[in-house]
Amino acid sequence: MAEEILKVENMHKYYGKKHVLHDINFSVSEGEVVTLLGPSGSGKSTLIRTLNGLEDYQEGAIFFQGTKINPDEKHWQQLRQKIGMVFQSYDLFPNLKVIDNILLGPTKVQGRNKEEVESEAHQLLAQVGLEEFANAYPRQLSGGQKQRVAIVRALALHPEFMLFDEVTASLDPEMVRGVLEIIENLAKNDNMTMIVVTHEMNFAQQIADRVLFLEDGNILEQTPADQFFTDPQTDRAKEFLDSMDF
Ligand code: ADP
Ligand code: MG
Repeated sequence: MAEEILKVENMHKYYGKKHVLHDINFSVSEGEVVTLLGPSGSGKSTLIRTLNGLEDYQEGAIFFQGTKINPDEKHWQQLRQKIGMVFQSYDLFPNLKVIDNILLGPTKVQGRNKEEVESEAHQLLAQVGLEEFANAYPRQLSGGQKQRVAIVRALALHPEFMLFDEVTASLDPEMVRGVLEIIENLAKNDNMTMIVVTHEMNFAQQIADRVLFLEDGNILEQTPADQFFTDPQTDRAKEFLDSMDF
């Protein structure tokens, strides 16, 4: 049995009085790829952000590698470095070259040796086909290229767990494939543990081991991917898949 890396127990999240996540329970094992699916507004981004300590929660508990995480506590900052996250908007620092965007976290936050990180960064850029853009500024890159840099920037921190929140949603269609391939390689070749929120159903079907289906802040089902895409447990998930046209 692979080791459990993340566990969420009876977790509730409110924005003010608005109850946006209801009694969330699930866990993720090392090397597992979980896709988080559900209609817009169902709470996918909120859940992902809560897992990364970007949002607090009001009830229940989240454990990362057995340690309870609490966004208020200092030690959470350290745990958080093990959880990489890439969003829909790549938010690279516009005034920094690609290479410096990547080096910032590992050198300033993790205090690692600059030469060592630099050589690793060049290697990672080569892997995503962007070697020659190391000294370019973000504005000189296409959306797809920026998103690939954002992934490299997250990987340079040596995460043990990756969260991807609709990373291709704002890209031109011809840019989508290249970004998805990188995530797929990470899952298949590097055996990275990840939670992926996506509207690309073919991609989700290809990479997922398990699907969490969310609606109105409730996990309606947790189903092995083989089954979810052919025979989901709930009518709501059936309707969702029918509406996705894939
Ligand atoms: P999804 O990512 O599935 O589209 P979100 O997690 O973004 O859903 O949103 C879930 C619900 O929480 C929505 O009703 C949304 O309006 C609400 N919400 C999201 N962010 C905030 C916020 N910062 N303050 C108040 N409500 C929010
Ligand atoms: Mg979202």
